[in-house]
Amino acid sequence: MTPSNTCIFCRIVDGSIPATIVAENSHAVAFRDLHPQAPVHVLVIPRRHLDSLDAGRDEPELLGAVLALAAEVARKEQIADTGYRVVTNIGADGGQTVGHLHLHVLGGRSFAWPPG
Ligand code: AMP
Repeated sequence: MTPSNTCIFCRIVDGSIPATIVAENSHAVAFRDLHPQAPVHVLVIPRRHLDSLDAGRDEPELLGAVLALAAEVARKEQIADTGYRVVTNIGADGGQTVGHLHLHVLGGRSFAWPPG
């Protein structure tokens, strides 16, 4: 099976699982997280399956498009001026639970540092 059959985020990209899409570009899609951890919580993913940021290390153009869409989402969601956080969890120690690269764009409240 290819990731598009088994990966929940690939299925959001192909439209077979519903999601609230907030922005997209030719390389990436942004949609609202199902279990928001802040007033704004949007996930930004590459259309093409990559397991994590680690798998994208040789793909600067694709990673740039994903990051640019995260910044566009922050503008669109009106959190850019007050500040926001972009996080990507990688692997077991990083706390990654879905194996398709995604950036969490979080805003609308203030965040602590260091993270838990
Ligand atoms: P992570 O733990 O960093 O891998 O983040 C995975 C995120 O995906 C979590 O915040 C989940 O709430 C979110 N999530 C899982 N399934 C869906 C879905 N079908 N639609 C939107 N968000 C989802």
